[in-house]
Amino acid sequence: MKYDAVIVGGRVAGSAAAYLMAREGLRVLVLDQARFPSDTLSTHQLHVPGGALLAKWGLLDRLDGTPATRRARFEAAGVSFEGALPTVGDNDALYSPRRTVLDTGLVQAAREAGAEVREATIVEDVLRDGESVTGVRCREKHGTTYDVAAPLVVGADGRRSRVARAVGATPMLVYPVSTVAFYTYWQGVPLDHGWIVGGDGFAAGAWPTNGGLTITYLARPAAFAAQVQADPEAAVRSTLVATGELGECVLSGSRVEPVRATTDVPNRIMRSVGQGWTLIGDAGLVMDPITGQGMTNALRDAELLATAVVAGRPLSSYQKARDRATKAMLQLTVGLAALKSSTAAETRMFSAVRDRPGEPERFLAAISGASPLASFFGPRHLVSLVGLGGVAGLARSRPRPPRQPRAPAEAAAG
Ligand SMILES: Cc1cc2nc3c(=O)[nH]c(=O)nc-3n(C[C@H](O)[C@H](O)[C@H](O)COP(=O)(O)OP(=O)(O)OC[C@H]3O[C@@H](n4cnc5c(N)ncnc54)[C@H](O)[C@@H]3O)c2cc1C
Repeated sequence: MKYDAVIVGGRVAGSAAAYLMAREGLRVLVLDQARFPSDTLSTHQLHVPGGALLAKWGLLDRLDGTPATRRARFEAAGVSFEGALPTVGDNDALYSPRRTVLDTGLVQAAREAGAEVREATIVEDVLRDGESVTGVRCREKHGTTYDVAAPLVVGADGRRSRVARAVGATPMLVYPVSTVAFYTYWQGVPLDHGWIVGGDGFAAGAWPTNGGLTITYLARPAAFAAQVQADPEAAVRSTLVATGELGECVLSGSRVEPVRATTDVPNRIMRSVGQGWTLIGDAGLVMDPITGQGMTNALRDAELLATAVVAGRPLSSYQKARDRATKAMLQLTVGLAALKSSTAAETRMFSAVRDRPGEPERFLAAISGASPLASFFGPRHLVSLVGLGGVAGLARSRPRPPRQPRAPAEAAAG
């Protein structure tokens, strides 16, 4: 069989790209070392724009009973407000599908659209003809090694991308890791909305997910990882207690799954296009999960790439559009991942948001990626909230991403 594209990695980025290309008649092969349904180390808030893409593609029903979350509460510096989540296209909810549900649904959709998906297959290297990548070498788990030729190899193989390493992709923007992320699941928590709390040295989120459970995502400075590893129960409990009311609410239920933790939460944009290859999803762009943008980014990249490929446009158009859509959110993410307490100016801004009708919704739309960050954080809007003096204070207190390391090539994927 001749393929138009071989996609390495079949989760959010890979299966979505396969689905979009195959339904336009392209011959697509997806290779993944996992067997689906398969879990992965990730919380799974799919922000409204991500769900909107699924709705546009006719795949929202693949979330298979995942509860819709239409309101969220936000707390920082003792200020608390709640609002409706935005509507984007045909979707008006955030969903938190278990990855066993979302990824399996996307793999099935790709197959139904005509893509071939081979599970339990490890891609070991890319094939080359001179400068061009011409296919992949892969190995069946416990089986044979063989080559697959294709004019396009898509690395959708996550933040430790083998394809990125094999093609020698280099980072164009990279910031250091600053958090440990740890999460778990609870039964019997009386929560029908999302809840986000930020404080000095921690961030927390709680969301309804499949099976009537609540997922809690917690973040602490990366150095706290040793404590999470030594005593996960105590680390979860102390962080939840620090959040106040959210902690009380969650701890009124019972924990029903182990605590999973990682400091493998890089912030990086890779050069993602070369002759015969491209990178999508985390392989090309990854950011700290504090803003929960990864899966939505992966779906967006899948669409940008598929559109370029189907239209016969240069792949650089995908990369340019991705970077335009991403950089401001990456900077916000890196700033939030510093886990600093709110300044007086920020507290004043949050108070203004709480006190003015419509502002909680505007804030939630911006931080979820449903509207441009500038629609909330732009100077004109901030002046309307806190006045000129307040904006000067915010400019001074705005979290600034740390300076980039001098030799970004050293921080290449893997
Ligand atoms: C702790 C944590 C919490 C997160 N929370 C959120 C959140 O709430 N919301 C959100 O949107 N995002 C979140 N993310 C980010 C999200 O998990 C990723 O952005 C998303 O999984 C990226 O999807 P992907 O398809 O690009 O890559 P992945 O999901 O990493 O999938 C890559 C696939 O490639 C396969 N693969 C890798 N190497 C090979 C190989 N050599 N051969 C064959 N197959 C291979 C793997 O088996 C895997 O199935 C979180 C991440 C972490 C770590």
